[in-house]
Amino acid sequence: MLTVDEALRSVRAHAAPLPPRAVPLAEALGLVLAEDVAADLDLPPFDKALMDGYAVRTADLADGNRRLLVGEEITAGRTPTRPLAPGEAAAIMTGAPLPAGADAVVMVERTRRAGDHVVIEGPDVLPRQNWLPRGREMRSGEVVLTRGASLTPPRMGLLASVGRTSVHAIPRPRVAVVSTGDELVEPDQVPGRGQIRNSNATMLRALAVSAGCDAETLPTAPDDPDALHAILGRGLTADVMLVSGGVSAGNRDLVPAAFERLGVSNVFHKIRLKPGKPLWFGVGPARPDGNPGTLVFGLPGNPVSGVVGFLLFVRPALGLLAGQRDKADRAFPVRLATPFAHQGDRPTYHPARLVEGDTPSVSPLNWGGSADLRTVASADGFAVFPAGDRRYEAGEIVQFLPLG
Ligand code: AMP
Ligand code: MG
Repeated sequence: MLTVDEALRSVRAHAAPLPPRAVPLAEALGLVLAEDVAADLDLPPFDKALMDGYAVRTADLADGNRRLLVGEEITAGRTPTRPLAPGEAAAIMTGAPLPAGADAVVMVERTRRAGDHVVIEGPDVLPRQNWLPRGREMRSGEVVLTRGASLTPPRMGLLASVGRTSVHAIPRPRVAVVSTGDELVEPDQVPGRGQIRNSNATMLRALAVSAGCDAETLPTAPDDPDALHAILGRGLTADVMLVSGGVSAGNRDLVPAAFERLGVSNVFHKIRLKPGKPLWFGVGPARPDGNPGTLVFGLPGNPVSGVVGFLLFVRPALGLLAGQRDKADRAFPVRLATPFAHQGDRPTYHPARLVEGDTPSVSPLNWGGSADLRTVASADGFAVFPAGDRRYEAGEIVQFLPLG
């Protein structure tokens, strides 16, 4: 059986960035840019006041003179009609262009109006004070964002300020979610004897959306080879298919056979891991354009196995498809806040809550195992305990895999 690291390496080797395409700027938040973007103009496009106040020539204030005649008023969106004459100030508003001749802006709080004059108060006024020279932020033709940048809100604003309404970017991976199992009823139904509600479809779709994907939920498939063939086949147009259930050793676990019948080649099945051991991963079928095909994850039906499998293997794959820099290991070391006795011959991902303090620590929760999603709903992530029976003391360091 593969270790978690071996399985992750194998998944990574199959996850290449999707082909870039034109995306409207309004839909590009979080995407990875696939082009260098240059400024189409100088910014600011003119010498620009950064304060409400008075544009002045500092030379006029050299000999202790503090009184200047107020000439025109320049508000944002207007342009000065003439240069500043010696001995003159112009009332100016934030964002407005400086008149020629002015070399400083005095903030209005440091002035007093006296009829048609203004009196400058406070410390000496220095040249270049309170205005931004033309082109200080960027010059026309200068590259302001490079290929590979993730589009954060400030970068979206920057793209708008250089006139872009569309960018070349790596699109969101498209994820198809399918639940399987004769025992499933949808959340709006009351389960009969032996039935349970389908929680995985909602949860897996939410995990995919929170990883920045477009996700679609397909109809729930019964444990029947032909129905599985028909429904799983529909997921093969997506970049990634997440299938819940049917990959364990039971005699109604028909999903691996259905994948193979659809031409999805198995890469691995089963990982030395708890919960989540039966995870199935495959790729295919290859497309006519040479694309190796859909990345297919068969996740065990137990909800917590699904979450752990998603965090460990699906999330990194989605990041690579989206062109993000590979975050090799999202788990980080933390101290245990409380002692914990671990038993088991597989590395175990145990729901745990972060405890606030000078240094972050975690407290493993009282957990009922892979079917107990309620405990995970109050966890911040999973504390990782290596295989082997052992008591861990408070203060010992363990790895922590965050949910978010
Ligand atoms: P399986 O992996 O199909 O053997 O299912 C393992 C366990 O997970 C069984 O107890 C199932 O009832 C449960 N299960 C399977 N699919 C779902 C689902 N979509 N939502 C909630 N529980 C599920
Ligand atoms: Mg099942």
